[in-house]
Amino acid sequence: PEQNPGAAAPQAGQEDLILLKRIGAVDPESLDDYRAHGGYTALRRAFAIGPTAVIKEITDAGLVGRGGAAFPTGRKWQATAEQPDHPHYLVCNADESEPGTFKDRVLMEGDPYALIESMTIAGYATGAHHGYLYLRGEYPRALARLQHAIDQAHLRGLLGDDVLGQGYAFDIEIRRGAGAYICGEETALFNSIEGYRGEPRSKPPFPVEKGLFGKPTAANNVETLVNVLPILNLGAEAYAAIGTARSTGPKLFCVSGNVHRPGVYELPFGATLRDLLELAGPPERMRAVLLGGAAGGFVRPDELDIPLTFEGTREAGTTLGSGVVLVLDDTVPLPRILLRIAEFFRDESCGQCVPCRVGTVRQEEALHRIADRTGAAAASDIALLREVGAAMRDASICGLGQTAWNAVESAVDRLGAYE
Ligand code: NAD
Ligand code: SF4
Repeated sequence: PEQNPGAAAPQAGQEDLILLKRIGAVDPESLDDYRAHGGYTALRRAFAIGPTAVIKEITDAGLVGRGGAAFPTGRKWQATAEQPDHPHYLVCNADESEPGTFKDRVLMEGDPYALIESMTIAGYATGAHHGYLYLRGEYPRALARLQHAIDQAHLRGLLGDDVLGQGYAFDIEIRRGAGAYICGEETALFNSIEGYRGEPRSKPPFPVEKGLFGKPTAANNVETLVNVLPILNLGAEAYAAIGTARSTGPKLFCVSGNVHRPGVYELPFGATLRDLLELAGPPERMRAVLLGGAAGGFVRPDELDIPLTFEGTREAGTTLGSGVVLVLDDTVPLPRILLRIAEFFRDESCGQCVPCRVGTVRQEEALHRIADRTGAAAASDIALLREVGAAMRDASICGLGQTAWNAVESAVDRLGAYE
């Protein structure tokens, strides 16, 4: 089958891959081929055990969200399922706009039926009959393949009024983003689907209670949903044995920058950053690794033994986020990178709240002043950056403003970026 031209090459050829096992092996446009590669066994098991037992499996497996925030999926599904208000909605967040994140693209382009099957299971478990797939607008190949998969699934009774003859009705509608980073924030995403400006809502109430169209909504990232298949196919216990006690299962990492083999890699949680970089071919003279994307933080070359788990990166003062591993060698001008990150946040701020709208501008101005002095910072610039960063973190409505200073702060504190 045709590979993903333009996308970073996914890891391939290893028998122990779980999430990437079909990528490159299955024809993404053939439902029969998907079935021949183990497709739709998880949905059959879901119907056999019923929605309550499906949620128990997901909870027992220890699945947490792979969009970046690591919220327990079983808790989210349980909370949605038990809401008395109806209808319930399922939303797949496929906006994937964190710089350096391209794992969901690989899954959607290379194995689209897996997402359709997992969304159907999620809808069944949470009592939803309608699923929205909010897709990053810049992913035309994923759009074509997912729409084809949805159409085929309808024709073959795997979506529609009576899925697999089990009396359960479910359909999926794709909505395309239009290039705004903020529309990946789940409540801004709901506004976007509803036809309003993509501005985040205050939480609580959380979407499980009042989400899309004000109704109970389970919103999950693509990679999170695709993990539902191995959980149902292997069983919760076998799945939970992969990874560590607090970060279970396999994880996709998006490795880019100064490595010899950039791409999407699958490793069990608990592998170290060093293990991952060995696969990707590290540079000879590494300067730093940005973990978690623009909202994440830098680590130094002497910190490569950090375990790649949510708890391990948190303890090390950084974040796994959406799996971004951006490697910089010592030829990269760090002040330029930081300025680029600041420009990004200033551009993408929705402008709804003052700390973020004004703070991202002040941050960029300070970094410009520093860059104009070829990277040397005045003490007053650093003091201002800290003050503005603290205000954004404490007082912004959503994660964009709250994290807009993370990368710059870690560059200052961990890398001595401007010394
Ligand atoms: P969050 O911690 O506010 O929420 C995470 C999820 O848990 C949400 O779905 C939220 O509704 C749910 N939740 C939290 N508390 C809950 C409760 N008490 N009851 C029910 N549900 C609850 O985080 P967020 O702002 O949604 O996401 C931030 C993350 O997004 C960051 O970690 C960042 O890495 C990531 N991110 C990812 C991308 C990407 O492209 N994948 C882009 C930008 C940001
Ligand atoms: Fe908008 Fe920024 Fe406020 Fe989020 S923090 S609501 S992006 S202005």
